[in-house]
Amino acid sequence: MGASGGGRAVRLRLTEIFASVQGESTRVGLPTVFVRLTGCPLRCSWCDTEYAFTGGRATNIDAVLREVASHGLRHVCVTGGEPLAQKNCLPLLNALCDAGYSVSLETSGALDIAPVDARVARIMDLKAPGSGEEAKNRWENIEHLRAGDEVKIVLTGEADYAWALERIATLRLAERCEVLLSPVAGQLDPAALAEWIVRDRLPVRFQLQLHKVLWADARGK
Ligand code: SF4
Repeated sequence: MGASGGGRAVRLRLTEIFASVQGESTRVGLPTVFVRLTGCPLRCSWCDTEYAFTGGRATNIDAVLREVASHGLRHVCVTGGEPLAQKNCLPLLNALCDAGYSVSLETSGALDIAPVDARVARIMDLKAPGSGEEAKNRWENIEHLRAGDEVKIVLTGEADYAWALERIATLRLAERCEVLLSPVAGQLDPAALAEWIVRDRLPVRFQLQLHKVLWADARGK
């Protein structure tokens, strides 16, 4: 919590809050409340949440806590956009942890994850070349990863897979935390990716986005 007083009255820009099942990460399938903050400084080629880039509504941490509580679930995922692009995401994460939720954060890997509350599971992307945003990877974040975090690499094809293979080895990613590899829908055949992972004996987890299987690209799911 910031020392500036006002604490939880700090302002946030919010796209939506909704209950669904977690579609990604090792928490896949868990009923979860999603808090989607507005804005992102990246433009990944395969982004499926462009509606969160702009707009949203002004709110504050107290209001978000009330709305989260109204859903009656213990898992909360703060996502975006890129939630860390709003500085008040950090006190929001503190407040959700203080309130006793099991909290995860989905972040692009482009911004500093070090100040995030240690109770939060950070699901951090590494942007492969096919995203068009490889240059935004903040490599200093790797040193801050802990066992409860997860690295997610979304792949558009074989070149991205080769890139991921190289990074997993040189950065010893799988020794630091869970590593998830995901195919971009319509660009990389999921079965091909699964076969490559098994062929190469990669110490990673294959994942499909469960919410897309269930609801395609419907918003608020
Ligand atoms: S970081 Fe996430 S929200 Fe931002 S453009 Fe990439 S996929 Fe979309």
